[in-house]
Amino acid sequence: MPAWSLLLSRLFLLAASAQSGGRFLDPDPGISQALAQERASRVSDVRYDLALTVPTDPKARITGREVVTFTLRDAGAPLSLDFAPNQSGRVLQIQVDGASVDARQVNGHIVLPGPALRAGSNRVSIDFEAGDAPLNRNADFLYTIFVPARAHEALPCFDQPDLKARWTLALDVPEGWATLANGAETSSASRDHRTRVTFAETQPVSTYLFAFAAGKFAVEQAERHGRAMRMFHRETDAKKVARNRDAIFDLHASALDWMQRYTGIPYPFGKFDFLLVPAFQFGGMEHPGAIFYNASGLFLDQSATQNDRLERASVISHETAHMWFGDLVTMRWFDDVWLKEVFANFMAAKIVNPSFPAINHELRFLLDYYPAAYDVDRTEGSNPIHQPLANLNEAGTLYGNIIYDKAPIVMRQLESLVGADMFRDGLRDYLERFSFGNATWSELIRLLDDRTAEDLAAWSHAWVDEDRRPVVTTELAVENARIARLTLNQRDPDRRRGLVWTQQIDVALGYRDRIEHIPTPLKAPSVEVAAARGRPAPLFILPNGRGIAYGDIHLDRASRDWLSANVFRIGDPLTRASAWLALWESMLDGELEPSRLMELALESLPLETDEQNVEEILRELRVVYWRFTSARAREALAPRVERVLRTGLNRARTQSPKGAFFATLRIVALTRPTIEWLTSVWQERTRIRGLTLAETDHIALAQELAIRAGSGAASSKSNDWQAIVSAQIDRTKDPDRKAQLTFVMPALSADPEERGRFFASLAEVANRRHEPWVLSALRAIHHPLRGESSEKYVAPSLAMLRDIQRTGDIFFPKRWTDATLGGYSSPAKAETVRSFLMNLPDGYPDRLRRIVLSAADDLFRSARTK
Ligand SMILES: [Zn+2]
Repeated sequence: MPAWSLLLSRLFLLAASAQSGGRFLDPDPGISQALAQERASRVSDVRYDLALTVPTDPKARITGREVVTFTLRDAGAPLSLDFAPNQSGRVLQIQVDGASVDARQVNGHIVLPGPALRAGSNRVSIDFEAGDAPLNRNADFLYTIFVPARAHEALPCFDQPDLKARWTLALDVPEGWATLANGAETSSASRDHRTRVTFAETQPVSTYLFAFAAGKFAVEQAERHGRAMRMFHRETDAKKVARNRDAIFDLHASALDWMQRYTGIPYPFGKFDFLLVPAFQFGGMEHPGAIFYNASGLFLDQSATQNDRLERASVISHETAHMWFGDLVTMRWFDDVWLKEVFANFMAAKIVNPSFPAINHELRFLLDYYPAAYDVDRTEGSNPIHQPLANLNEAGTLYGNIIYDKAPIVMRQLESLVGADMFRDGLRDYLERFSFGNATWSELIRLLDDRTAEDLAAWSHAWVDEDRRPVVTTELAVENARIARLTLNQRDPDRRRGLVWTQQIDVALGYRDRIEHIPTPLKAPSVEVAAARGRPAPLFILPNGRGIAYGDIHLDRASRDWLSANVFRIGDPLTRASAWLALWESMLDGELEPSRLMELALESLPLETDEQNVEEILRELRVVYWRFTSARAREALAPRVERVLRTGLNRARTQSPKGAFFATLRIVALTRPTIEWLTSVWQERTRIRGLTLAETDHIALAQELAIRAGSGAASSKSNDWQAIVSAQIDRTKDPDRKAQLTFVMPALSADPEERGRFFASLAEVANRRHEPWVLSALRAIHHPLRGESSEKYVAPSLAMLRDIQRTGDIFFPKRWTDATLGGYSSPAKAETVRSFLMNLPDGYPDRLRRIVLSAADDLFRSARTK
């Protein structure tokens, strides 16, 4: 465009802005809430017609042509599309209604000048080269992850959840590649070693849910209850596929049936496919009609534990539930992202129950959500469930345990507050009213508030808008061996705030031969448990007897003393688990010696009859062992810990608890005889009766052995880390797992210099592309047995966090920090983290600071016990 016409168009632009009543400001980087609101008020009825040509070489550019049509309320001001590709992408040409337009590109946006647009229908076509950062390109496959606002890093779009669009897609891919997308395939034609596939137009779908994948995938087909489903995967172990295939299809089918029954709304998106990606960034991602999963969560090994099977059922139900909660009705803005996650988790818990009739589901709910929620909510880095969000480029930092684990607990409370039937009816109303549209949490609360006498707005404030948890204590007065008065107190850990949390609590009074439960509503700072009056004085009081209440629930001294020696005497597994969680908190609060908890775990494991509790005790044992026990005490303890685990392994009757004991044994092994035994298991010279190890077990074992080989804990025979890892790489058949172990290998080296060079290489974003690989390597580098030589990487690793957040997927900053700090427990390392936090530059994102605080909490606490 010649200079004068540029000038003219700028004049037009000025005139247009003046007309709209204000100066047009360039949009900020990312997608600000202001930009999103402005667009949502002007733009509607969006359609994208997208064609992409994917070359075989993953480094070659992907070219595309996109036609965006939409209705514009007024053309008085410029309109921004979002497009912020990495260096592999750029705009080639833009036309509006067939005429070329000189649209400025600023801060990751394409600014369409007002005069080029018109009120009513508009048609913008863009030739471009796609950015490939969110396309996860590998040698022979690629897949998109556009959550939370990464679609515009690949292609031009209005990248906000409340501008839903109908998408039409055509993919031109190397011949022999399979493809899937949200819409059903409508045609496929091959020519000159290329295949062009077209997909039907979708229902209205948010940009973060638009998805496609292409590559060398095997495709399994099945029909369930009249619905055709396809599973795309890359697993090379045919037996493994055969072993898992039917269960995976069945779980999807029953989740779909259940959701249709509960919501009264048929599956909204037509066809139903899913893709299993090796080393996928998340457990799953709920693209309508094309769910993506982490393959290892669905293709289970023979050594899979009962918990692994439950997790699989849960992740499948979670993603399937999202088809209604999240996909059909979507949050208006990502500050409400927790809402779709909580519903997905909440529904998943309801869905999996019928498939596992032998499981204690109350216990599962307790052990699944409470410890993980507490892990963040007890820390200085905690955050409320609902958090304001000014720009989508920070949306990734909203995700975490509070959303995934605290929110389901809160939602269960809401259901019991409102009543299950009323709650379901309210949700049906909500789904119908906002179908294919967007809604906020307050809209839902208003809808439910109409159906109940409770003050849901006040309830929602304490539980949803504020962080942390109530500190709950008991006060007992005894006269003549009978209870004169039992009081429950709660206080806000943040004294300036003085919040009161309303909840139902179940007070358990423990006697030699029985436990008496007294349900009590806790609605004030102090409440008397009136029904306790006159009962005999108990051996212990467990304020959260049925594990329903949420908080920092303290044991009084006498109860703590009794439980920390006798918890295994409690008959009911749920009450027992609740006691374990309370003792865990006592240990973290410095009220119970870690060595006492370790002793209790070692005494309890041979007696524990519930497998879920076995797993919880093993979890606590591992953390106490590596983080709350000095190296010297650990060495003294090791023979006994290993003996208890070996006995547990031998005595367990089924594969699943055997797998749990074996997994812990390989993580804690320290003595020479155990390491040699594990080596011989790894070499398949020794077999464990009743437990079949899979390739993933051998890889995990090889990594643990390699770390020990370098640390001098092993004999010279098994002292060659390189021989172990190389042998494992050779015998690994699965190409993706082979690539992963090859990547991780230098982090397993016995040579600190080599580990240092590997760590330095992570400064390059290209070397961090496979996040699970990086995390596995980081854990090896910072393993407690390597702590001394690796602690110099802690500070640089924290310094990289901002870059990690900018370039990585949503869970990466927290997981990176966890992997960095997980191996340390010394006051010196706690000091490193404190000083990092003290010296943060102005403007450092508060959420990142909180991530560090929550990841460092165990370190701070263990350093305090030293
Ligand atoms: Zn989810």
